[in-house]
Amino acid sequence: MTQKKAFLVNIDRCIGCYACEIACKDENDLSPGIKRVMIRIVEAGELNRSYVPEFSLETIDVSGCTLCPQLQIEGRRPACVNNCLTNALDFGDLEEMKKQAEKIRGFKFEKEQKKGITVYASKKPLDTFLAPA
Ligand code: SF4
Ligand code: SF4
Repeated sequence: MTQKKAFLVNIDRCIGCYACEIACKDENDLSPGIKRVMIRIVEAGELNRSYVPEFSLETIDVSGCTLCPQLQIEGRRPACVNNCLTNALDFGDLEEMKKQAEKIRGFKFEKEQKKGITVYASKKPLDTFLAPA
């Protein structure tokens, strides 16, 4: 049986550089305005700003993340993950991503979407509106 796949986002490592967004658009030749991953900026006080990459895994139109099967079939990682210079992003089997998240030893939650799961992890407490809807 194929293992369920997941993204792992280490929010503490994301610097909001948008390289993942750009890499996705480039790899998948997306039209302007279409984003399969986008960075949400979360402000919690003047000195507390977090960047949260959010994956569009629920839709079946062109804005939905495909998990880059054209790269996976060649044994390569999705373009967004591969172009993240801070290693804020990882992708793999769900159980492995959960194990990696455990190592961060902080706040974490999973957001399940139809085509996949995103596991968010951070050492610092996050605002409640980051929690799954
Ligand atoms: S996830 Fe990585 S590539 Fe994307 S904005 Fe954050 S640091 Fe940049
Ligand atoms: S896995 Fe591929 S399609 Fe999905 S957000 Fe990343 S680069 Fe875009």
